[in-house]
Amino acid sequence: MITQYLRLTLVVFVLFVVAGCAKESKQVVHLHGETMGTTYNVKYVVDDRGQIDGLKAALDKRLVEINKLMSTYDPTSELSRFNQYRFTKPYPLSPETTTVVKEALRLGELSHGVLDITVGPLVNLWGFGPNKRPEKVPDEAQINAVRPYVGLDKLTLTPQGLKKSHPMVYVDLSTIAKGYGVDELATIMEDYGLSNYLVEIGGEMRVKGERGNGEEWLIAIEKPITTERAVEKIVSVGTNAIATSGDYRNYYEVDGKRYSHLIDPRTGSPITHNLVSVTVVHPSSMTADGLATAFTVMGWDEAIKLAEKEDLAVFLIRRTSDGFEEYASPRFNATVTVKN
Ligand code: ADP
Ligand code: MG
Repeated sequence: MITQYLRLTLVVFVLFVVAGCAKESKQVVHLHGETMGTTYNVKYVVDDRGQIDGLKAALDKRLVEINKLMSTYDPTSELSRFNQYRFTKPYPLSPETTTVVKEALRLGELSHGVLDITVGPLVNLWGFGPNKRPEKVPDEAQINAVRPYVGLDKLTLTPQGLKKSHPMVYVDLSTIAKGYGVDELATIMEDYGLSNYLVEIGGEMRVKGERGNGEEWLIAIEKPITTERAVEKIVSVGTNAIATSGDYRNYYEVDGKRYSHLIDPRTGSPITHNLVSVTVVHPSSMTADGLATAFTVMGWDEAIKLAEKEDLAVFLIRRTSDGFEEYASPRFNATVTVKN
C-alpha cells in the first residue's frame, strides 16, 4: 500500500547557468518559454545586427513540430500513432523521428541494452508515464505480463519504417527527445548566423562561443540532494552539450523505499543503486542526453568501464556511507574546465 507519495516536480534545471557577472560587455538576449512538459532557455550575444527579429518564433515553431512528432503525452503525435498501431508491418516515420530512434537504438546497443526506448510499458506500470501515478507498486505478475513486448530486439528500423515484432511494442523517446530538441534549436541559431549562444531544454544544454564578456559560458552541476539547490561544480565545456541524469529529482517513496523514474530493463524495476548523478559532455545534446540516462541505469562500476572503453566525457557522483564520491573520466578532464 502506498503510505507516502512524493513526486518532485523539480525535474528541470539539473543544470543551470550561473548568472552573468557585471563585467559583461556585450548585450545578451534571453528567450524562454515552455515545451516538452518543461521550460526552455536560449541566450545569445548580440552582434552588430542587433536583436534578431523572428528568432523566438522560429524556435517555438520548431519545438511545436518536434512535440507533434515525438511526444508520448500528445495522443495524436506521430510517435503516439506508432504506439497505437497494432501491426508488425513497418510503420513509416518522418526523417526527424527516424533520426532520434536510430540514435536511441545505437546507444541502446552501446549500453548493452540498458538504454531501452521500449521500456514505456514498464515506465507506465511504475507510474512515470503519461498515465502517471500507479494505484500500487506493480507486482511480479504485472511486470512479467508486459515483458513479451519490452526489449530492443522487439524493434527494427527498416527502409520502409519502424517495425514492431509484437503488436503491443511501445516506444518512449523521453530520455533523448529533449536533447534532440536542443540540437534542433542550436541548428536554428547557426542558421541565423549566431556563434555565441546557449540553448537549454529542461536541464539539457548546449553552448557555443562566449557569454558576452569574452569568456566561456559557465554551467553549474548541481549537488545530488533534494532539500536544496546547491552547486557541486562550476564548469565550462567549450563548444559542446552537457546533460545530467540523476535519481534525486524524479521519484516517489513507498514505505520508505525510493522508486526512480529510470527503469533497469534487466530487472523490470526502477534503479536502486547509489549512483546519484551522471553528467555527460558531448558535441551532440541528443547523444549526451541518452548517454546520461544509460550510465545512470548502469551503475557506478559499469559506467566507469564503458566511459573509459568508449573514451566518453563522464562525471559521476555516488552516495557513500559518509557522503559522496566523485569520478571524472579522462575525456571529461580533457574537455571540461572546472572553475571552483
Ligand atoms: P534523466 O534526465 O533522469 O536521465 P530523462 O528525462 O532523460 O531522465 O529520461 C527519463 C525518462 O526516460 C523516464 O521518465 C522514462 O520515460 C524513460 N526511461 C526510463 N527508463 C528508461 C530506460 N532504461 N531507457 C530508456 N528510457 C527510459
Ligand atoms: Mg536523458
